[in-house]
Amino acid sequence: MDQIKIEHLEVYAHHGVFPQETEKGQIFVIDAVLYTELRAAGMADELALSTNYGEVCHFIDDYLRKNTFLLIEAAAEHLTKELLLHFPLIKHLVLEIRKPHAPINLPFSSVSVKIERGWKKAYLGIGSNLGDKQALIEKGIEGLKGNSMIRDVKCSKIITTSPYGGVEQDDFLNAAIELKTLLTPYELLSFLHELEAEAGRERKVHWGPRTLDLDILFYQDFLSNDPALTVPHPDMENRQFVLEPLNELCPWYLNPVTGKNVRQMYLELVQNRDRNDEQEDVR
Ligand code: AMP
Repeated sequence: MDQIKIEHLEVYAHHGVFPQETEKGQIFVIDAVLYTELRAAGMADELALSTNYGEVCHFIDDYLRKNTFLLIEAAAEHLTKELLLHFPLIKHLVLEIRKPHAPINLPFSSVSVKIERGWKKAYLGIGSNLGDKQALIEKGIEGLKGNSMIRDVKCSKIITTSPYGGVEQDDFLNAAIELKTLLTPYELLSFLHELEAEAGRERKVHWGPRTLDLDILFYQDFLSNDPALTVPHPDMENRQFVLEPLNELCPWYLNPVTGKNVRQMYLELVQNRDRNDEQEDVR
């Protein structure tokens, strides 16, 4: 992806673990690589279509002077988040904060931390089969949109589906959601649990009725086998209520584990279901 680079920006600020560092202050040196699309600005020769690097430099200077952190790790973490929230065309960035005058009492040129952060695309499944299902799903989506660390929320149409897993219960409403987020996969999962709890969800019966169910189906290129967070969602290939709405949002999205795209998984599931129905009819 295209880059805008800022090298060796000096900021006099007050971060550090030692009292003299927060009292007297020292110079910090910042390098940043902003990943963004520059084609439109380049073709049109138009600053409004790009990210103004002057504004970014002043934003960094202002933020690091007005806030005080013990660790440059914390300064970098908070600063990258604020930059990504404030400058919408930056998709991800690498930021290095150097401390050339760190109190080490040994000859050295500088110490630094360097981190890479950015917006990640994720797909969720959302479902409800208890209470005012439509309103609960809409509230869940509003909850996602209300989190500043989540943006570009798109929802498929909501479909009605029969319950899955053999428990006698009411029909479900289901949909799929696409979003971009600055939350890590586990932070996103914990936020989804908060939304489920707000909707009055009680986890009594596995695969039982629920006011709101939110699952992470895909999260960028993240792969996990952890039972607390398995991604891509392991049962996706068997669930029409997941694949049908997901196919509307991202038919060509590849499951990195199986190498199959969403459309292929969906068509295979529908074909298997039709074949099973035919065999039942023959019997
Ligand atoms: P459920 O009954 O479908 O809401 O399942 C919830 C449990 O599944 C929670 O304990 C989660 O930690 C775990 N889990 C594992 N992988 C995922 C995933 N991809 N999305 C949501 N929950 C997951």
